[in-house]
Amino acid sequence: MSEIENIYTGQCYCGATKVTVKGEPFAQGYCHCKSCRAFHGAPFIAWSVWPSDAVSVEGDLRKTDKNPALARSTCASCGGKMMGILKEAGFTVVFPNVLADSGLTFAPTMHKYYADRAMDVIDGVPKFEDGPVELGGSGVTLPETRDPVRQAV
Ligand SMILES: [Zn+2]
Ligand SMILES: [Zn+2]
Repeated sequence: MSEIENIYTGQCYCGATKVTVKGEPFAQGYCHCKSCRAFHGAPFIAWSVWPSDAVSVEGDLRKTDKNPALARSTCASCGGKMMGILKEAGFTVVFPNVLADSGLTFAPTMHKYYADRAMDVIDGVPKFEDGPVELGGSGVTLPETRDPVRQAV
């Protein structure tokens, strides 16, 4: 019996760079780390991780080299955030908002680097201090709290 593989497509803000992913994400969640917040200019970000060979790009992708393990990448024309390439690990983080119009269901199962957060999120999704063990983290989880100072961010 053959399986039909899902295909999701998306594009950057200006439309010059397009991405196609096949199959289903390995994991999905949110990241609150300082690097993600600085790159995106946002209090936290959403991510979906795919095997790199399931991801293809059409257009001109500009890759950052600040973190050699994770090449955060934007559209070279508009600067729209597209993905982060974990070259050694063979995985690519595609920001799910890029794929939002293609029918991808965003079903987050974790918050990563919640200890570094700029704001609290009360959503019942597990909050990892850094990350789960299977993704190289400590596995330590933090309680959901509503901190009035953080809510002011
Ligand atoms: Zn663009
Ligand atoms: Zn991060």
